[in-house]
Amino acid sequence: MDKLSIASTAPSADFLTDTLRRLVECDSPVGYNVDIKPLMEGIFRGYGLDMTWDRKGTGYVRLEGRDSSRCVCMGAHLDTIGLIVRGFNTGGHARDYPEPDGSLRVRQLGGMNYSSAEGCTCRIHCRNGNVVPAQLICDKHSVHSFVDARAVPRDEDHMSLSVIGDVHCMEDAKDLGITQGAIVAVDPEFELFDNGYIVSRHIDDKAAVAALVGLVDQLSRTGERPAVDTLLAFPIYEEIGHGGSYVPDGVDEYVALDITLLGPDYDADEHHVGVIAADAHGPYDWALTNTLISCAEQVCEPDRWDIQSCFHYSTDAMAAYKSGADVYAAAFGPACMNTHGRERCHIDALVETERLACAYALGMGRD
Ligand SMILES: [Zn+2]
Repeated sequence: MDKLSIASTAPSADFLTDTLRRLVECDSPVGYNVDIKPLMEGIFRGYGLDMTWDRKGTGYVRLEGRDSSRCVCMGAHLDTIGLIVRGFNTGGHARDYPEPDGSLRVRQLGGMNYSSAEGCTCRIHCRNGNVVPAQLICDKHSVHSFVDARAVPRDEDHMSLSVIGDVHCMEDAKDLGITQGAIVAVDPEFELFDNGYIVSRHIDDKAAVAALVGLVDQLSRTGERPAVDTLLAFPIYEEIGHGGSYVPDGVDEYVALDITLLGPDYDADEHHVGVIAADAHGPYDWALTNTLISCAEQVCEPDRWDIQSCFHYSTDAMAAYKSGADVYAAAFGPACMNTHGRERCHIDALVETERLACAYALGMGRD
């Protein structure tokens, strides 16, 4: 089978959607991969592939290439934005919380948009293994109770985590196993619509993880091998900036798969895959980015891909650059609406992302 024919094979929208649902329904806030580790290992074991983990919790799957003299990395981060417990509202501290009520002070893990998260349900993953349900609540939580309920900012100084249960003081919370340093996962709130749109809090970056699983599925079904050895990487610290900062020896290219953007600067909608030419820290590698553009020209629907210069945004490939890794870096991924809130994309964007991933892995556009 030639390279073009497999890369043009239509990915399975149902497979991508089912995989995305499984991934988003498994908690994996920044720095917490306890639950998603066995899920990922099980997914790849189904293809006869072993998964390994480095010391900072990045997972790897190695795909043998037709040419093993080189190794490239394709990464998609497992972590989602979340929260970490920083303390208890015991009254009398700097925040001047009126009465101790057992609610928890939190700090964001990644760029939480608190306006989008008010009232959302969460799971507190305690250090002792307990999992406690909670809600993110504004201090002025009810329009019927507080005259300024609509006016106070939705931020860390005005929002707390409220346990869903009979918790009235710090001791009640501690009795459940909650301590400082407990990590909080936000409910994924996954919804699939008949017209192909998908809404969930964690499309970033599990849509891209699903596309990489889709790539493995396609290679498995066709028996095709990547052009060169390809290391799939799944970091757990992207949302705080350093997921891809460690690059294993032997890797000379790092291509991050991550969400792309909608807004005034972007010629995209939710059906698109975007090639990221630059982000908040500057441009990616010129030639490798052109390779991805060439791949998109050859395999993507003409009106379903674009080139982006992404502000207020970065990826694991840029983290590799910033840490001094000697690699060529580039990035691409599915367009996403309402990022870091209840995110929205269309299954078309996942299909195009898998197409582009497949084309790049098979070595299209390189010569
Ligand atoms: Zn991301």
